[in-house]
Amino acid sequence: MRETTASDNAATPAASDELVHADTLVLLFEQAFPALFHSFLVAGILCWALWGRVDSVKLLTWLGLLGVSTLIRLAVYLTYFRAKPVGRAVLAWERPYAVTLLLSALIWGVGAVWLMPQQESVEQFVILFFVAGLVGGSIFTYTAHRAMTICAMLAVLVPSTVWLFLQPGHITFGLGVAASTFMVGALRGTWVLSNAMQHSLLLGYELKQANLVADHMARTDELTAINNRRSFMELGEQTTRLCQRQAKPLSALLIDVDHFKNINDTHGHSAGDLVLQQVGALLAQQFRAADVCGRIGGEEFAVLLADTDPDTATALAEKLRRAVASASMAWQSQTLQVTVSIGVATHSGHLGTLLQRADAAMYKAKEGGRNRVIFHAEEGAAV
Ligand code: GH3
Ligand code: MG
Ligand code: MG
Repeated sequence: MRETTASDNAATPAASDELVHADTLVLLFEQAFPALFHSFLVAGILCWALWGRVDSVKLLTWLGLLGVSTLIRLAVYLTYFRAKPVGRAVLAWERPYAVTLLLSALIWGVGAVWLMPQQESVEQFVILFFVAGLVGGSIFTYTAHRAMTICAMLAVLVPSTVWLFLQPGHITFGLGVAASTFMVGALRGTWVLSNAMQHSLLLGYELKQANLVADHMARTDELTAINNRRSFMELGEQTTRLCQRQAKPLSALLIDVDHFKNINDTHGHSAGDLVLQQVGALLAQQFRAADVCGRIGGEEFAVLLADTDPDTATALAEKLRRAVASASMAWQSQTLQVTVSIGVATHSGHLGTLLQRADAAMYKAKEGGRNRVIFHAEEGAAV
């Protein structure tokens, strides 16, 4: 089964149903491909068995029609495999699949009646045996898609069953009864098998959804909805490796809320939480998706900027500092005045070293009076 894309992961029941339906189609395409050749091979054997007993022009015409429909189905398959659709895009392939399958099934069903020798019950039995065998195979081949299995099966079996009932004599009548009983059993089998398959696909899909949600929760800070420390470090390692490989500068911002304890003490923990949420929102707003933002401690945030030189990183930090200082954070009837101190460093080797340097610069900013940005120079002196 193919992977679904992120946009396919909408969690509404209707969306789940659509994706499960798409999964059944994917299964169908993967599972039923050999049936194309098998059906044509069986047709060849049937013609060979009836050669000399049934008009050869009839036999060849029927085989030719089946050959054309097999080629059309093959073209649908090959185009599908080349397009490699995923998620809901697979649904667009249902109609071509159903139409071409039904065409083949009808050629079989109508052909069985057309080729049926008028007098000889042994030949009639042979034809019916082949047709019933084909239907039995199709139950296992197309089970993933209930409607398709049932339509294909009825298209193959109904014409010859009706024909058998319309013939005089008890042998053909008996064959008609046998074919009808088989049809009922096959319908029931299809129903049960495809229900079980749908159920297991749905379970698999729900499990995948639950894993996605759990994974998202494990990576996201609950309060601010940005990366938590674990996720920040993981993404940070990837970004560091990328910058190292491409010999690009990597800058880090370490942001600490000033006198945050005072906010908690004066206005309560909920006010403190609100401040953290607002700072997180300002980070998410200002930085691009490619930049790695995270809440790495209680009131500490960090940002990694790939391919960013010291001047640009310092300017971005200054922009953020001003945005926080001028943000109006309303708490009950008051507006909270919040500032941040930011340490900036640039380094392209080791993430730990980069963050340590940014941290050292941040402490310099605290010592220097807070609400400021300090850049940590490569040689070790904070400037
Ligand atoms: P400084 O300017 O030197 O950074 O002073 P500060 O008060 O911000 O620093 P300090 O490290 O003394 O205090 C940080 C406080 O942050 C202490 C802790 O109770 C609080 N804190 C940590 N996590 C949370 C949180 O999730 N919510 C709230 N409301 N407070 C938190
Ligand atoms: Mg702190
Ligand atoms: Mg602080």
